[in-house]
Amino acid sequence: MRIKGFQGTSLLDFPGRLAALVFTGGCNLTCPYCHNPGLVLDPGQYPDYPPEDLLADLRRRSGFIDGVVVSGGEPTLEPGLEEFLCRLKGMGLQVKLDSNGLLPAVLRRLLDRKLIDYLAIDLKTAPERYSELHNRAVDSAPLLESIELARAADCAYEFRTTCVPGLVEADDIKAMGEAVRGARLWVLQQFVPQHALDATLHDSEPHASQTLHDFAAGAAGYVTEVKLRGDAR
Ligand code: SF4
Repeated sequence: MRIKGFQGTSLLDFPGRLAALVFTGGCNLTCPYCHNPGLVLDPGQYPDYPPEDLLADLRRRSGFIDGVVVSGGEPTLEPGLEEFLCRLKGMGLQVKLDSNGLLPAVLRRLLDRKLIDYLAIDLKTAPERYSELHNRAVDSAPLLESIELARAADCAYEFRTTCVPGLVEADDIKAMGEAVRGARLWVLQQFVPQHALDATLHDSEPHASQTLHDFAAGAAGYVTEVKLRGDAR
């Protein structure tokens, strides 16, 4: 397990709980709006954080953290992820996993072994537009498989969409809504241009708050609950 970053505590990413945040490097997409471009494009620039050191650190904090958020990059690319999550669960910690959902076989195994307490899967745009998120064609069928896995899973889950102008417009909300129809929770979050992987986005304008509220109203027709995060609340 190659861990590229560690943040002791975060209130934001594990709903209702205090969690540590772990980052892996590398990704199977290069989303233009990605806010972790260094981790995606050149993970080797960051030293590996030895898992044993991290686990020892977590043990020291175990009295006051409830869980660990594993994010990236794309964590499901890490061959040691399953073992790492086993160790976390063995320490009595809750696990939240952030994923782009393109490796459903990995998610299936982790879910079957009950190693995930909260699964967050990104929906980035309409499924038929996924090739716009990389420098080569992207098959979105695995994403649709992951969506079904999440919906059928015992654990809590959310689908979440960063509302990037051009990638997420009203028609894309409809297409994503069809993909997640009947799901429990879909989170729409505001796009923050400043650190985007594609530098041409740095000076771009995010959607207006009203537009995000309109998207949320549209999304509400497909799922049980829609939440807004970011400055559109
Ligand atoms: S936004 Fe997520 S899926 Fe997209 S490139 Fe960044 S880490 Fe990968």
